[in-house]
Amino acid sequence: MAPVAIERRALRPNDVLLDVMYCGVCHSDIHAINSDWGKTNYPCVPGHEAVGKVIAIGSAVTKFRVGDIGGVGCMVDSCGTCEQCLQDREQSCVNATTFTYDAPDKVSGGYTYGGYSDKMVVAEHFVIRIPPGMDLAAAAPLLCAGVTTFSPIRHWQVKPGQRVGVVGLGGLGHMAVKLAVAQHARVTVFTTSPGKLADANRLGAEDAVLWTEAAAMTKLTNQFDLIISTVPEAYDMQPFIQALKVDATMVNVGALGTLEGGISGMGLAFGRKSLAGSMIGGIAETQEVIDYCNARNIKADVEVIRPDQINLAFDRVTKKDVRYRFVIDMAASKI
Ligand code: NAP
Ligand code: ZN
Repeated sequence: MAPVAIERRALRPNDVLLDVMYCGVCHSDIHAINSDWGKTNYPCVPGHEAVGKVIAIGSAVTKFRVGDIGGVGCMVDSCGTCEQCLQDREQSCVNATTFTYDAPDKVSGGYTYGGYSDKMVVAEHFVIRIPPGMDLAAAAPLLCAGVTTFSPIRHWQVKPGQRVGVVGLGGLGHMAVKLAVAQHARVTVFTTSPGKLADANRLGAEDAVLWTEAAAMTKLTNQFDLIISTVPEAYDMQPFIQALKVDATMVNVGALGTLEGGISGMGLAFGRKSLAGSMIGGIAETQEVIDYCNARNIKADVEVIRPDQINLAFDRVTKKDVRYRFVIDMAASKI
């Protein structure tokens, strides 16, 4: 990662110009710069957890005024007219969602550039209102890590007292714990890092399990109503399918490449269990998680860095050494 000069388009009537203040560092940014999901178009400017001050608005903008704070998550455009967009599921637009970076830019041509930048120009529909008084560095990760874990908790209707498992305690995982605890679920963290066991309790989990120990997993057969997996790589999910109750679901939000085989058809069939996936959340749902967290004072645990520390941060995230989200202070690049 190195500095690069890019241009932003002139404001269209519905556009907002943001002076980026903070941008969270998602593991997806690392996948992108490494071309893990197919060839990336370089230069690539990652970042889809951006919070900034509105410094100019187009003539038709009604959602923002100059001086407001806005957030940009994982999407900046979609068709707005397909059955998915009409149901507030822009992330599944049948005519192709424009993701915040490295997606074909339907307005300017070329590819979109993300939030690791001084300024962003985004259509107002795709800018989230950040309520006054929020801790902005701690709010930034809600725009991806927050909504990605909030959405399955909502979709699978987690109820008070239900048991929720969270696999992988990183950026997404720690938000999954906080958001499931906020729904009064009983949360178990599955980690590979002994050093995170104590943190799991501090974050509100009831218990934490080193899932590398097979014996610990066997004890948990038929216990969970929902398991959210945030592990970035494919792994053997069968022990977790076994840990599900009848009719329960394991939702994978982490590993987006080819999954590992070895899942027992019999094991799924006998308990009518589901293995599902989930992709971020729509714009309305992203606004909902921001407002939900604002009302309950739920914040990401962040380590704020300067832009020139990004390579170090990527290394530490790759080594599972982040507690629990790096957030770039963009002001440090403007001095
Ligand atoms: P992260 O901060 O790096 O956290 C991932 C955690 O998973 C790590 O802290 C570690 O937790 C565990 N882990 C990492 N590598 C592992 C391995 N090889 N084997 C077992 N456990 C491992 O990453 P993140 O930002 O939360 O993102 C997680 C994944 O979700 C990424 O692949 C990202 O691309 C994806 N993602 C998906 C969506 C979506 O919409 N579906 C949205 C955002 C991100 P422990 O130390 O506790 O074991
Ligand atoms: Zn992300």
